[in-house]
Amino acid sequence: GGVLTKGFAVFKNDGQFKPYAFTRHAVGDNEIQIEILYAGICHSDIHHVREDWGPEKYPMVPGHEIAGRVVKVGRNVTKFKVGDYAGIGCMIGSCRHCEACEHDLEQYCEEGAIMTYHDIDRYNGNEPTQGGYSDNYVVAEDFAIKIPANAEIEKVAPLLCAGITTYSPIRNVGIKKGDKVGVAGFGGLGHLAVQYLVKLGADVTVFDVTEAKRADAARMGATRYVNVNNSDELQGLNKQYDFILSTIPAKYDPVMYVKMLKLDGQLAIVGIPSAANMPSIPVNAIVMNSNRKIFGSQIGGIKETQEMLDYSVANGIYPEVEIIPADGKTITEAYQKVVDGDVKFRYVIDMKTLK
Ligand code: NDP
Ligand code: ZN
Repeated sequence: GGVLTKGFAVFKNDGQFKPYAFTRHAVGDNEIQIEILYAGICHSDIHHVREDWGPEKYPMVPGHEIAGRVVKVGRNVTKFKVGDYAGIGCMIGSCRHCEACEHDLEQYCEEGAIMTYHDIDRYNGNEPTQGGYSDNYVVAEDFAIKIPANAEIEKVAPLLCAGITTYSPIRNVGIKKGDKVGVAGFGGLGHLAVQYLVKLGADVTVFDVTEAKRADAARMGATRYVNVNNSDELQGLNKQYDFILSTIPAKYDPVMYVKMLKLDGQLAIVGIPSAANMPSIPVNAIVMNSNRKIFGSQIGGIKETQEMLDYSVANGIYPEVEIIPADGKTITEAYQKVVDGDVKFRYVIDMKTLK
């Protein structure tokens, strides 16, 4: 039979979390069952719950930053044994044979990567996928990430989305010592980006809309903090940067950042605002600021996610987390605090406290 699972779901787009029990498919020969210890709250979860990007199906159990312990392994499993730590990020399956999958870019699978929640798992009887705000997950070993035994396990979950989403474009661009770089949006993703960039020896400027995080940016090694609501601080920044990463989840002007790039500088965009507040970049602004490159990036492939996790643990790069108990009211309130900018820097739900 299937695996009975308890968790928290929203039943419509009102953001109210309530207990929800459901069944996951039984552990297959190539699969593992993970007892979820910690689940991060990513801003993408909030966008989904609120239907920021379009219609959703309910009930919805969000959560794609998952860290836990293996409690069962299928007969063919070689990567994990019972008792190991294991993690899951944004996706749990893909076709495994298209050009993207063959190049370790499963997130761009031509047949569609299967998302950890809000998706249909076509490889498991069209089961609706439900995420990590729950007590366990059943997943193919190939889509689970090994977490070293010495990791600070209560801080690992956000690396599986916020970590890889920032690490991947930073590595893709090949940031090196002395590069002048910017991070726009200093939240869950942004504060990990700053840590990776500082570690690589880059000279980092942080852009955000609040004074509340100015000291945190300096503490993490950024050399400059720009409150974009203060126009004085925006003076003299044009044509200064080799690379800027935008994690902004709200309305903003991307052209402001394009103008800050040097010739051949690159703007990577990972933040995805709501459909109602989607920024756009006029073609003439691209031509008037020629020879800069703008690209989007989604999470990272499984191989790169493993590399990111090993690198992060080895270098002591972790999110700064606020651990909250697993109850519906607390999760509901946490969502509003993320939107209001009241979290430093990532909420992580302690799923062990689920009753
Ligand atoms: P957070 O809410 O944790 O962080 C966002 C930060 O951006 C906050 O610090 C916020 O300020 C700041 N901000 C808001 N408006 C502006 C602005 N105009 N200029 C500068 N900074 C601003 O969100 P996450 O880090 O979890 O996620 C960020 C975005 O990335 C989301 O849209 C999410 O959906 C997307 N995402 C994309 C992925 C991908 O694969 N491409 C993967 C994961 C997430 P304040 O301090 O006031 O809150
Ligand atoms: Zn995420």
